[in-house]
Amino acid sequence: MRRVVCRYHCGVCGGHFSSLNGFAAHRAGEHGAGDRHCIEPLDDARFAELTENGLCAMYAVEQVGIVVWTLAADLQRARERSGGSERAAFGVAMDREAA
Ligand SMILES: [Zn+2]
Ligand SMILES: [Zn+2]
Repeated sequence: MRRVVCRYHCGVCGGHFSSLNGFAAHRAGEHGAGDRHCIEPLDDARFAELTENGLCAMYAVEQVGIVVWTLAADLQRARERSGGSERAAFGVAMDREAA
């Protein structure tokens, strides 16, 4: 079975993100002003869980069962593109591997 993979890993908070947009949105504060920090996606409605059973291969030992975050707006767009089916949006490769 194919897992959703962490593509943008935050080395500061250890957060896992599927998109650069999502990663960028969770970093707040001004560059160089000393107040750069991470927003906890759980506490911010802009973020949505893409999966609770993702894979992060950022370190020597892979982590599985991690939450991979994306932007709620991006997830919504992906669902609309696929006719409302999350499985169609993210499960295409999974279906091929299972066949
Ligand atoms: Zn972070
Ligand atoms: Zn990660």
